Amino acid sequence: MEPVLIVGAGIVGLTLGQALKQKNIPFEIYERDATPEARGQGWAITLHWALEYMFKMLPEETLARIREVQVDPDVARNDNGNFLFINLENGEPKFKIPPSVRWRVNREKMRRALLQGIEEQVHWGRRVVGVDVPLGQSEVKLLFEGESSVTGRIVVGVEGSRSIVRQVLRPDSFDNVPLGINFTGVAVDMTAEQIKPLRDMDPLLFQGCHPPTGAFFWFSMLETPHVNGTLGSEAERYRAQICMSWVEKGPEDKVAGTDQARLENMKQRAQGFTPFLKHVVDEIPMDTPVTEIKLADWECLPWNNNNGRVTLAGDAAHAMTMYRGEAANHGILDAFQLMQNIEKLYTGAATAQAAIDEYEQEMRTRTSRAVRLSRQACQDAHDWSRLDETSAILTKRAVVGE
Ligand SMILES: Cc1cc2nc3c(=O)[nH]c(=O)nc-3n(C[C@H](O)[C@H](O)[C@H](O)COP(=O)(O)OP(=O)(O)OC[C@H]3O[C@@H](n4cnc5c(N)ncnc54)[C@H](O)[C@@H]3O)c2cc1C
Repeated sequence: MEPVLIVGAGIVGLTLGQALKQKNIPFEIYERDATPEARGQGWAITLHWALEYMFKMLPEETLARIREVQVDPDVARNDNGNFLFINLENGEPKFKIPPSVRWRVNREKMRRALLQGIEEQVHWGRRVVGVDVPLGQSEVKLLFEGESSVTGRIVVGVEGSRSIVRQVLRPDSFDNVPLGINFTGVAVDMTAEQIKPLRDMDPLLFQGCHPPTGAFFWFSMLETPHVNGTLGSEAERYRAQICMSWVEKGPEDKVAGTDQARLENMKQRAQGFTPFLKHVVDEIPMDTPVTEIKLADWECLPWNNNNGRVTLAGDAAHAMTMYRGEAANHGILDAFQLMQNIEKLYTGAATAQAAIDEYEQEMRTRTSRAVRLSRQACQDAHDWSRLDETSAILTKRAVVGE
């Protein structure tokens, strides 16, 4: 049997690989990074409603490894799962959403946990540059930089929001659409004393809006001393992520070219924050690298899957902003749905066309709504007057489409 060709060894590509392995369906994963460690995957993500599907498709040992890479194992044991959104001017909670089960995991370590057991199917240093779907055949070809190629039964593009496979499927309209809102963030080491006021708000993460200016702030825990091995030593430290975003109203709101200017901008925007938060931003060392994340989305437009030979999943299929924290959750559900439909194809229960059409129909209905809700949540998060119980930042993370 020709294999499933997966483009991209991110969280979604590896989850799909693990799921196909459980079903004895042949697959190969091609990844442009030279090694698993080639690029820091920087941030932490919350797995919430997708946990149910992970339990259904991943082997027990993989689930155990993912459980182990939660950013704060102590909190994880008794997590109250609150979603906290505060008024940045006075530090008062605006919304506190009741508990739900969540695993907040380090993204890079989750990728490594998903890799174990399928190492032989993951080919590093293989940048995909194109897809060839020969007329009248049931195969498909992946083309690599350096002019080599492989043949398979179906190509799944899961290479993130700047997907080359998306470009092949929608050459007229593959670009992500910018939101006009700018976002920068830093990762900083902090002592127990420095981080205490943040952890007192919420030990894992919280967000907020500054009513007079609409600036948005986001704290997230990346590493505790227990996890990074500094516990009890003189160098004991936490590592936290501090991010801010703001609406671009004029040239003064553009993201600067240097780390120093970006940091000055974050400090200046935090001037009206409640004293403990202003202090946290003021204390970020001036030599800290500042990362920009481009806020843009792609609404899962229709494409021709060439008789079920090429499809997309994860951020490649539906780039969305992170203001509802559910893009990876949707990607994981894509992997689950795709695994079931690919199984129909490989057992002969459905044609490739029928199987992939069915997958795409469910995925597109569900995620185009999610992309729009995340866009709305991003806009609401920068406008205090729009933040109420009906705001998209709060409404239930629905697993269904319209
Ligand atoms: C700050 C931030 C916080 C977030 N928080 C959350 C959260 O709390 N909850 C949540 O659900 N989601 C969250 N997300 C979103 C989540 O990180 C993404 O949805 C998820 O990582 C997407 O996984 P993916 O596998 O689709 O793509 P990626 O993780 O982007 O992986 C794609 C892979 O494809 C490879 N690749 C790219 N091009 C090629 C090519 N041409 N050939 C071969 N390989 C290629 C890349 O190197 C990469 O390894 C957050 C995102 C950000 C930015």
